[in-house]
Amino acid sequence: MQGKIIILSAPSGSGKSTIIKQIIDDEALHLGFSVSATSRAPRGQEKDGVDYYFISDEEFLRRIDAGDFVEWEEVYAGTHYGTLASEVERVTGSGRNLIMDIDVKGGVNVKKRYGSRALSIFIMPPSLEVLSERLHGRGTDSEEVIARRLAKAEYELSFAPHYDLTVVNDDLDAAVRKVRRAITEFIAG
Ligand code: ADP
Ligand code: 5GP
Repeated sequence: MQGKIIILSAPSGSGKSTIIKQIIDDEALHLGFSVSATSRAPRGQEKDGVDYYFISDEEFLRRIDAGDFVEWEEVYAGTHYGTLASEVERVTGSGRNLIMDIDVKGGVNVKKRYGSRALSIFIMPPSLEVLSERLHGRGTDSEEVIARRLAKAEYELSFAPHYDLTVVNDDLDAAVRKVRRAITEFIAG
């Protein structure tokens, strides 16, 4: 049987990666992470093939032309991110449920494409102030990169009504519980 698709989107720094790390190894959910391709440089402890497939922008554009992506976006000017068709096949083909950390436009497009086979979850920061604190606290981005991400956050928040479910990530344990419960119900249905 083909696995289902779980989409998590949010402004950068809202806690998507943190939440995914807490549930990815929960065998009851039978998840596989969709490793995206990106043309940005690795951040902190990120590893190629685990967090992302890190490729050059030139290679990214070549693979767009080759039709290798299910979806892709230029999330920040000059920086591309995309989901490879081979990645969707690798995970869902093995019967696992694919969990994707993708931007708001990509999330809405993937939901449209897969319909009831996909569950889309929007992770909401408690406020823009808290979002700024988290981006600074993460300690992985320059001031310039943080400013670029915050400038886009308000626009990204406007996409929340297009998602199946919104979870506010204030208390991390509570947010993880809500996401886990929603996925459990979805994959049982
Ligand atoms: P994203 O993947 O959405 O860009 P991260 O998961 O990297 O965001 O989280 C951004 C920062 O906020 C990290 O340093 C993380 O440890 C911290 N964080 C995540 N969730 C919470 C929370 N509920 N309370 C406090 N800090 C959090
Ligand atoms: P970051 O640089 O913080 O890892 O990710 C920046 C943004 O790119 C986030 O909103 C993240 O969800 C998004 N993103 C990561 N991978 C993909 C992808 O494959 N497709 C799309 N559309 N967005 C992605």
